[in-house]
Amino acid sequence: MARIEKKVLDNRCPRCQAPIEFNPKLGLFKCDYCDGKFTAEELKDMTTEENKVTETSVEYVNYNCPDCGAVIITDENTAATFCVYCGNTSIIKSRLSGEFAPSKIIPFKKTKEDAIAAFQGLKKGRHLIPKEFINEKNIEKIMGVYIPFWLFDVTSTGDLQIDATRVNSWTSGDTHYTKTDYFKVEREGSMKFSKVPVDGSVRFEDDIMNTIEPFDYSSLVPYNHAYLSGFLAERYDVSKEDAYKSTEDRTVKSTKEEMLSSALGYASKVVTNCDISLHNDNCEYVMLPVYMVNVKYKDKFYIFAMNGESGEFVGNIPLDKKKSVIMSILLFIIIFVFILVISYVVFKFGGSN
Ligand SMILES: [Zn+2]
Ligand SMILES: [Zn+2]
Repeated sequence: MARIEKKVLDNRCPRCQAPIEFNPKLGLFKCDYCDGKFTAEELKDMTTEENKVTETSVEYVNYNCPDCGAVIITDENTAATFCVYCGNTSIIKSRLSGEFAPSKIIPFKKTKEDAIAAFQGLKKGRHLIPKEFINEKNIEKIMGVYIPFWLFDVTSTGDLQIDATRVNSWTSGDTHYTKTDYFKVEREGSMKFSKVPVDGSVRFEDDIMNTIEPFDYSSLVPYNHAYLSGFLAERYDVSKEDAYKSTEDRTVKSTKEEMLSSALGYASKVVTNCDISLHNDNCEYVMLPVYMVNVKYKDKFYIFAMNGESGEFVGNIPLDKKKSVIMSILLFIIIFVFILVISYVVFKFGGSN
């Protein structure tokens, strides 16, 4: 069954119909979605009878890719015509069943034009990119996709036992002395980790995400379906439990390193016992904005991805083999001719003296 959210919304943006809130800093009603700013008076004047929506029901649409298994979600007014991961055009549309709404979202701050400019910019200084790679057809396919993430707040409590040494050496007369003191050092501590991110998408490569990070988590806002309009969202396929497990190694390692580094002034340190327990204080399911396009070239996928907040981007690009062979031959000919000319000059003028 489709999940229907009913929300009572008092104010809507006269320009884009997104819910609008009063911004105390600006002293205006500001639409976070289209950036429109309105005074209370303007808001009243511009809102027509027809636009006065007091209640709305949101129905999400679900697209399943039979090829790669991606599940893409969007609202009724936005259509997905191909799979953002594998380009498959026979994706299956259905009403969304079950839970979707994340708790928070970082809305897109960069426009699609920014993403297109960055994608086209990949060509600069690279002459070996195949002509058919950065073309209109692929530019068309750049999509703004909200990638699912889990953010964990974790408290770690640890107890570390260390065998440590301190070494002193000195010389008295003809004799050299070395004195080694042995210590049993114990360290206890607690650390708080805030918003440890784990991506909830199996398909979105971690390497790519690491390159375009960080996201500014302070710009997370409560999720509202209005942010989805014109964008897609991927549904998580890494469960909260599995995601949490992948934070454990990182938090345990950091806690251990922190405790170990607090034992100062020793020549050697050997950990004999390490006890670290973790507590998951909080978990949030959030959506982070990424522009991306996966371009298939000679049976291989090349991804271009851009952080929809900061504009940081990464692009894998293929090399045109034919072009690179031609370039090598050209380079060879140029060098060959150059050497020929030099030899001729040296022979002719160098030899006559
Ligand atoms: Zn607006
Ligand atoms: Zn797919």
